[in-house]
Amino acid sequence: MNIVLLGPPGAGKGTQAESMTHALGIPQVSTGDIIRATITERTPLGTEFRAFADAGSLVPDCLIERLVDERLARADCRGGFMLDGFPRTVAQAEWLGSMLARHGRPLTHVVLFDVDDAIILERIAGRVSDPATGQIYHVSFDPPPPGIASRLIHRQDDNAEVLIRRLQEYHEKTAPLVPYYERLGLLRRIDAFGRVTDVTRRVFAAIGVDAPAQTWQPG
Ligand code: ADP
Ligand code: AMP
Repeated sequence: MNIVLLGPPGAGKGTQAESMTHALGIPQVSTGDIIRATITERTPLGTEFRAFADAGSLVPDCLIERLVDERLARADCRGGFMLDGFPRTVAQAEWLGSMLARHGRPLTHVVLFDVDDAIILERIAGRVSDPATGQIYHVSFDPPPPGIASRLIHRQDDNAEVLIRRLQEYHEKTAPLVPYYERLGLLRRIDAFGRVTDVTRRVFAAIGVDAPAQTWQPG
């Protein structure tokens, strides 16, 4: 399966990608994670990315497309992949479509996470992650286990001011992908509000796969 997870920041894409990766055996390719890893390397490209990410703006298409191309060429993506956070513009979607067509591995599903901006605000405000495992938690909705609080990080761009800009970018530049993928017959819309396990069931139903009996727990 070659899947795109589409939806605003904080919709729960990364959270669902974890159980999907485990159940489907295909990697999650998160462009946000790739960009944050590049920023950490402190290269000139990382410095350029930082300015965009800190402001909540999208990085230029050509820069991110190159990184996606390299990532999807890796061996672990041969049996399928799950793109999270890419494409985010119609230009990126067109580039992706042509690139995948050239390689004879077209997209099979685009899952749209439908959720209100008010819910997103709550989810982003409480999002923390464990740098040691990459696991995402929410301080109220999915609290981390005791004993790891000191190493948890709250993303720098997960604050109310930057979120406004990120949501603007989503509504202006990414939302047009909904009719774009609808026209291609690939869009599967799911209600992303509700308990994580309920959303998991909806995602699996949308891609036509039996949901795992229970949500996968890391470690
Ligand atoms: P995205 O990858 O779409 O940006 P995340 O998966 O990181 O979103 O989720 C954002 C925050 O919301 C995280 O703190 C996560 O724990 C929490 N979250 C995810 N799904 C749900 C849900 N169904 N109900 C409540 N909180 C959720
Ligand atoms: P995310 O982790 O998906 O919320 O992405 C964090 C930040 O990385 C975004 O606010 C953008 O600055 C950048 N980014 C991630 N994916 C893309 C993309 N497909 N196109 C442009 N910028 C992106």
